[in-house]
Parts: sequence; structure tokens; C-alpha cells
Amino acid sequence: MSSPRMPAIFFGHGSPMNALEDNLYTRAWADIGRRFPAPKAILMISAHWMTNQVAVTAMLQPKTIHDFGGFPPALFAMQYPAPGSPELAARVAQILAPIRVVQDQAWGLDHGTWSVLAKVYPQAHIPVVQLSLNMNEDPAFHYELGRQLSALRDEGVILMASGNVVHNLRQLNPSIRAYDWAERFDTLIRDTIIAGKFEQVVQFDQLGMDARLSIPTTEHFLPLLYILGAKREEDQTEVVCNALEMGSISMTSYIFH
Ligand code: ZN
Repeated sequence: MSSPRMPAIFFGHGSPMNALEDNLYTRAWADIGRRFPAPKAILMISAHWMTNQVAVTAMLQPKTIHDFGGFPPALFAMQYPAPGSPELAARVAQILAPIRVVQDQAWGLDHGTWSVLAKVYPQAHIPVVQLSLNMNEDPAFHYELGRQLSALRDEGVILMASGNVVHNLRQLNPSIRAYDWAERFDTLIRDTIIAGKFEQVVQFDQLGMDARLSIPTTEHFLPLLYILGAKREEDQTEVVCNALEMGSISMTSYIFH
């Protein structure tokens, strides 16, 4: 029954092209797959599954979803044929009760999930369940779900979330690395997380103009709150891929283990 406690990891996923590329981020992701014992399953919270309730993918074989446009055919051809886990989907519902958790049969693995997992576990042999973002709820709700789901870490399940701390597509500028406001906000969040002041991260709407520019919509930021919620007091905090690109995308990622 006892299995080593699994980490909780937030990935800054950035461009879907990372799935095809070999760069500093993707090497760091591959390294994560090698560093920790293989989990029994993965619970993934992706920025790209927004719903009006809480849902989990509950099918045996989730399909690979190509939820983007304007990328080369090779990216649309990519498949990530990891199995699902109806057992884990049911366990998530049990843990989160009395919150209702829809056992979804229609979604699959979106690019927030597979663009990262294709590097972490290229063999696609570990079952993956996605948890949706209920966009009707406030940030504290997402943090609280992460706190409850932390129990899975003691059941051989690795908790992963995929988004971006800074994600402003309207401000994208391929000719610069980072806007000043993006750099400041990414650094503020990093320092606040290292200091363990998670309530300030949850209340990101109080963090001023830099926060408003960095989080024009919340879906890429909310996944981080699950991972903060899942942190245990005794965990180490590790920052990886601490970088910005194209002006307004932060790749900064966090591992609690
Ligand atoms: Zn994204």
C-alpha cells in the first residue's frame, strides 16, 4: 500500500511547438521524467480545458486533441496515446465529494497536457487523467481543490498542472525576451512562492498592473494554484525553466517534492 510520495509539478508550457523541439525547456521536462520514480498515474490540470463544472476524463483511451491553429502538419500529426484511468477519475470524485465531479467521456488530452508529457514520458505508458478548470469558481476554490487532491501524492499519483504564470498573447513580441512588467511579475510570483506566501498568489487580483498585464485571462494561471494547494509543509520548492520568452510568456515551472 505504501508508495513513495509523488511530487506536485507546475509546468510553464509555452508554445505547442515545444512538443516537436529540443530546447532547454524540453530537456528540463525530460529530466523530470527520469528523476522521480515512475508514478502509477498522472492527474493533470491543463489551462486548455475550461468548463462550467468540475470534470475529469474518465475514458479508457483518451484521444489526442489538437486544440490550436496555424502550426505545421507535424504538430497536428502528433499523437500521445497514453491510456486513461477510470479508477483514478472515480477516486478524484471520491476525494472532492461533496463537490460534484463529472466523469467525462468526450474530452481527451489537450496540448497543455501532451506537449509537456511527450517530453516527460515519451513512451506514453503512464495513465493520464485530466481535471478541468471550473471557470465559474474563484481562485480560492482552485487552491482548495489542490489541497484536497494532495492526498493522491501518497497513492502513487503524480500531480501536474500546465499553464503559464505570465501569458499575454496580445502582447507577444518575438523580437524581445521579456517586457519589464512580465519579468517583474514572474519574479514577484517566484519570490512569493519561495517565501511560502501562497495566499498572496491566490489573491493575484490584488497584485496591481503587472498582474493585470500578465494574467489578462485566468486560465493559464489557475493551474498553478492547484500545485500550490498540493504542497506539503515538508516539501522542498524547486524552480526550473526560470525564463521568459517572446516578451509576455513565462516558462517558469515549480516542483514540490
Ligand atoms: Zn497554453
